[in-house]
Amino acid sequence: NNHRPRSEALYAEALQHIVGGVNSPSRSFKAVGGGAPVFMKHAQGAHFWDVDDNRYIDYLCAYGPIITGHAHPHITEAITTAAANGTLYGTPTELEITLARMLKEAIPSLDKVRFVNSGTEAVMTTIRVARAYTKRSKIIKFAGCYHGHSDLVLVAAGSGPSTLGIPDSAGVPVSIASEVITVPFNDLDGLRTALDTFGDDVAAVMVEPIVGNFGMVMPEPGFLEGLCKMTREAGALVIYDEVISAFRFHYGSAQTYAAFPDRAAIEPDLTALGKIIGGGLPIGAYGGRKAVMEQVAPLGPAYQAGTMAGNPASISAGIACLEVLMQPGVYDRMDAQAARLAEALQASADKHGIPLTINRIRGSFSAHFCSHPITNYDEAQDTDGEAFAQFFRLMLDQGICLAPSKYEAWFLTTAHTDEDIAATIAAAENAFAAMKR
Ligand code: PMP
Repeated sequence: NNHRPRSEALYAEALQHIVGGVNSPSRSFKAVGGGAPVFMKHAQGAHFWDVDDNRYIDYLCAYGPIITGHAHPHITEAITTAAANGTLYGTPTELEITLARMLKEAIPSLDKVRFVNSGTEAVMTTIRVARAYTKRSKIIKFAGCYHGHSDLVLVAAGSGPSTLGIPDSAGVPVSIASEVITVPFNDLDGLRTALDTFGDDVAAVMVEPIVGNFGMVMPEPGFLEGLCKMTREAGALVIYDEVISAFRFHYGSAQTYAAFPDRAAIEPDLTALGKIIGGGLPIGAYGGRKAVMEQVAPLGPAYQAGTMAGNPASISAGIACLEVLMQPGVYDRMDAQAARLAEALQASADKHGIPLTINRIRGSFSAHFCSHPITNYDEAQDTDGEAFAQFFRLMLDQGICLAPSKYEAWFLTTAHTDEDIAATIAAAENAFAAMKR
């Protein structure tokens, strides 16, 4: 078992200078019993090394973007070249056209795109554009889907699908929360009720078409089709938040995934992107139907801008990352590794009598400490957080790095080897055995 005295010392120091010691709350260990998070200093392929020189196999993968492993040579070279050419111009570049074309080829609903700097910005802007286009103000979203930290999407469900939202964070005004209606994922009746109640005011229905934020959760058959149909009938736009799902399961996004054969029936008006498309550098993008995107300045009245947007470093890293991902067999390999790992975890948990429900979609999966299926946020909340916290620490002590949250997925990369998978299976077997005791 590894020891982490230097991480503990750095955490104590970080607490004096950085609020909470971390630059994103999901990095704190608050949800797994507190204490010092691990301070990493070096990463290569599927591995991390911390400041105490412990090695870890990484399944956090920076919450999704690191799909080719850390410091992939093709991406590193692209970033190095971009850095040597000047990192920021404030003018258009040809690189931006290249990445925009690649995104459009992979995701045909994108007639036009715009690059921004984060998933939060991308989502925030799709809402503004939808409001500008429809001249309506309300948004319907689904409980447990995370859409970044802008005011409008930090809103939780009111007391039912036909009620207005309540702020999910201090600092979000009640007046803003009242612009949002939250319904359960996979609940078309709830959506119907919300649209019947507020339909004429609804600018958009926003959803993670394949959920990545309360586990990996597929929509039930017909859910996206019904969502798109009802939303259009109400005169509102469909916004897909594909910040996690784009390029995660195949070279394309949820809206072009093989599980949904009738693509036309699930095509959104607007899509928000981020994470993988920046190859590990900061990025976001949004895009969609031409008529809708033409709302955006300088063509239209909806304003959105960015000093750093489309910077050559992020764009170059994104292009390089997609070039790696478009190689044949890349996703099948991650799929096979994840299948082997998930099956072994399930068998090991079953053997030790520990309830575990795994939702796997290709090279990613979530492992929930419960014996019921996970199809919506209520079911994901109703899992054993203490068992997860225990498992998380037992794995960390054996050099397996997971996200410190029971809702977060395990991500495979193109860099994980059969040995990494075998070592992880062995560590999990130890962890489940210890938990039983
Ligand atoms: N949407 C989804 C689906 C996400 O998972 C995230 C980040 N986890 C965001 C939006 C926000 O992206 P960012 O952290 O880049 O602002």
